[in-house]
Amino acid sequence: MSFLFPRYCHSNLPIADYGDGCYIVDKQGKRYLDGSGGAAVSCLGHSDPQVTEALKQQLDKIAFAHTGFLSSEPAEALAETLIKLAPEGIERVYLVSGGSEAVEASIKLARQYFLEIDQPQRHRVIARQQSYHGNTLGALAAGGNEWRRAQFAPLMVETSHIAPCYEYRGKQDGETTYEFGQRVANELETELLRVGPESVMAFIAEPVVGATSGAVPAVEGYFKRIREICDNYGVLLILDEVMCGMGRTGSLFACEQDGVSPDILTIAKGLGAGYQPIGAMLCSGAIYNAISEGSGFFQHGHTYMGHPMAATAASAVLTAITERDLLSAVNQQGDLLTQKLHEAFDEHPHIGDIRGRGLFRGIELVEDRDSKTPFAKSQQLNKKIKAAAFEAGLICYPMGGTIDGQNGDHILLAPPFIISNTQIDELVEKLSLAI
Ligand code: PMP
Repeated sequence: MSFLFPRYCHSNLPIADYGDGCYIVDKQGKRYLDGSGGAAVSCLGHSDPQVTEALKQQLDKIAFAHTGFLSSEPAEALAETLIKLAPEGIERVYLVSGGSEAVEASIKLARQYFLEIDQPQRHRVIARQQSYHGNTLGALAAGGNEWRRAQFAPLMVETSHIAPCYEYRGKQDGETTYEFGQRVANELETELLRVGPESVMAFIAEPVVGATSGAVPAVEGYFKRIREICDNYGVLLILDEVMCGMGRTGSLFACEQDGVSPDILTIAKGLGAGYQPIGAMLCSGAIYNAISEGSGFFQHGHTYMGHPMAATAASAVLTAITERDLLSAVNQQGDLLTQKLHEAFDEHPHIGDIRGRGLFRGIELVEDRDSKTPFAKSQQLNKKIKAAAFEAGLICYPMGGTIDGQNGDHILLAPPFIISNTQIDELVEKLSLAI
């Protein structure tokens, strides 16, 4: 009998016993290849000795010091490293305990920034359909997933949603990829003019859409145009790299590949790599200075922010990524994984699209390839694939709602950066079996 309140009330999950690189072993001794790093979390795999050792040493020194009174060496060191590596213009790091907290903080920071610079009318957020930014109320409002939002709608920050940059489904006949990107980016301007640009504080988007769409990268030029529109109307650009950041797409920050720098950047998941719960909101010097020279106090905070153990884990993860040249591994193994997925599925009648960057790959399932018709939600296809893969000893991240929040299915792959060639073969083989 379990006394836990699980996510799915009637689930009866196996108990994870220990980790072994790219595998998790349960209490019955069954091994699962972690093909999605949980949910793009475990970028170093499980039981990494370097991270474990760093955590043990920090635990012997001090586990917790409340940031209302004291800073800590791990938090200071992590912030310094992140700023050295961050996109241009990013100068400060606000440490929290996960992705939703980072997004929530970014929305509140945007609001406070506009109050500090005397633009109190700016309170709206614009985001995109088929996006996920977290489950706390501000972050949930930003997300463009109707079924997740519906029952909490009366509690939400005012947000509107424009079309995503989803080439497979959005590109029109006769349009080049570039033209498609510019057209969907321009929807931001249309929406700003519709709601009144002076009422909008921020536009938020994932550079590569993860959970809700299955690793959909923006096309070339899209984010440059978005940046231009934000600048023209004085709107902040928040890039949510909670899932796609921290090396997952082959560069430490995904937005590097789009050639843009945001005003606010959120990261989590791969930052602590599952060794500790941690997230971060990074912001520009201009935003930080407006607050530090204004009220001098960001009206937000959490008990566990800047937790020394969490910061220690994140620094150890960043050290591992650098010392072991794991970004090269992500690019190399990402190419291999893509090649193997194409070999396995290019002729498959129900695989519509294979996409992504680095070790962040998505597969979209369709009932009919020519018309790109999705499977109906009632078929529960993604749930069946998830169950079959799990049975075969593979953890992957199948989700539904790809098309309209209801119908459509995709599978998200985000294996550890240390995945070997033979483990890639095993992953594709088990996935084929499940599909
Ligand atoms: N933003 C994005 C892009 C995410 O993918 C997620 C989690 N899937 C979140 C925010 C929320 O993160 P968390 O679950 O750690 O609160």
